Amino acid sequence: MAAHQEKKLAQERRNKSTQNVPQTSQGQWGRAWEVDWFSLASILFLLLFAPLIVYYFIMSCDQYQCSLTDPLMDLLTGRKHLSDIWNKTPMLTWRAAGIYSLWVTLQVVLYMFIPDFCHKFLPGYVGGVQEGAVTPAGVVNKYQINGLQAWIITHVLWFANAYCFHFFSPTIIFDNWIPLLWCANILGYAVSTFAMIKGYLFPTNAKDCKFTGNFFYDYMMGIEFNPRIGKWFDFKLFFNGRPGIVAWTLINLSYAAKQQELYGQVTNSMILVNVLQGIYVLDFFWNEAWYLKTIDICHDHFGWYLGWGDCVWLPYLYTLQGLYLVYHPVQLCTANAVGILMLGLLGYYIFRVTNHQKDLFRRTNGNCRIWGKKPEYIECSYMSVDGTKYYSKLMTSGFWGWARHFNYTGDLMGSLAYCLACGFEHILPYFYIIYMTILLTHRCIRDEHRCFSKYGKDWKRYTAAVPYRLLPGIF
Ligand code: NDP
Repeated sequence: MAAHQEKKLAQERRNKSTQNVPQTSQGQWGRAWEVDWFSLASILFLLLFAPLIVYYFIMSCDQYQCSLTDPLMDLLTGRKHLSDIWNKTPMLTWRAAGIYSLWVTLQVVLYMFIPDFCHKFLPGYVGGVQEGAVTPAGVVNKYQINGLQAWIITHVLWFANAYCFHFFSPTIIFDNWIPLLWCANILGYAVSTFAMIKGYLFPTNAKDCKFTGNFFYDYMMGIEFNPRIGKWFDFKLFFNGRPGIVAWTLINLSYAAKQQELYGQVTNSMILVNVLQGIYVLDFFWNEAWYLKTIDICHDHFGWYLGWGDCVWLPYLYTLQGLYLVYHPVQLCTANAVGILMLGLLGYYIFRVTNHQKDLFRRTNGNCRIWGKKPEYIECSYMSVDGTKYYSKLMTSGFWGWARHFNYTGDLMGSLAYCLACGFEHILPYFYIIYMTILLTHRCIRDEHRCFSKYGKDWKRYTAAVPYRLLPGIF
């Protein structure tokens, strides 16, 4: 919608504005076209070590009760060799390959062949065919938004199995966790490699491709902006949302079922993690149309970072708290449990309201009310590849007047709550908050760099009006 409005506005103003407008070079507001040594070093590091990091975390739970230091100590003191650890690691099994193939096939079927019906009966829910933002080449893609429906159907099937049909145990995911890791890796590498080849041989939109000339950078950060197969199979929307995020809540349910099987009860910390992360996942699907306007879809190209990240990094590392609680069933006292719940809900509230304010502001082109008042904003302009001038607005009131990325601050508060639910015995469950802090701070800087290239002096006016990034008065 916002993209449509932006385009319409641009059409109206084009005659006035395109005279004397210099042609912009392609990529002026896309991601970097020249690869600096730091980016290249980070990319090589991640390509080499990210799969090992995931393996290390999961293995340390499987073999060392989630201690991150014990495997290292064993290796450094010579008590164990790498081969000892590797030999104890479950390998790929036909069973896991079958489960994973069925899982991905189910998600493809739900994504491709069942048009959204939720928007027909859920008031306020935006589903069905929706438009994305304007790409740097000036394209506006259409998406079939049916993630909420896919999530509901998948979970109804899960509960029907757990309570009625008993085709498989609800602990199935936990019980096959490492064999499934190999399957997820195969899919992650396959899809990223395919996306790279497709970018060279048959891109969906050649004008939105980005070739830096550096093989590793292109493989990692992607060539195509919105690779598609046919009209509707959009790689970014599918891999970002499903199979990873639909699986997130099922993985947590499987961990809860494992606790029940092992200890005869589910701890309040496990319930907290299931509930708080469940809210986050449901929020994602309820707002899937909004998600089309986020950085992942609007600005990132599709490469290993998204392809492998969505298949492996997200389902394995975002669910570490639940996995940890299977090995360490923490029962919190009521005061701690309530405190953590409050922190999680407050974080979620800030995250949601901040995102909603921007979405509302952009959808209505500023004709709305934020905290009961007309929003304040800065008018700005930018150009697409073909030299067309577009106009946009940057809001400076509501939570967007407090800090330039207060939505990230809310997200970080929620992330901290999941970790705190696990107590303080081990560092492993705190990986999430450490990772999210690095990810969102880096994302904030990356986004601001991009916005500066896009809006130029208008962005400077905005940062003068809203001087802090995440924490008012501090950062
Ligand atoms: P934002 O939703 O903050 O989007 C940033 C974009 O919004 C900018 O590029 C700019 O785009 C526009 N914008 C910036 N400032 C303003 C303003 N004042 N008024 C209007 N528009 C503005 O970022 P993300 O897409 O990264 O994040 C979306 C949500 O997803 C966040 O809440 C984040 O916490 C969450 N997230 C979660 C992750 C996870 O792994 N759990 C990972 C990443 C994000 P334009 O070019 O249109 O002007």
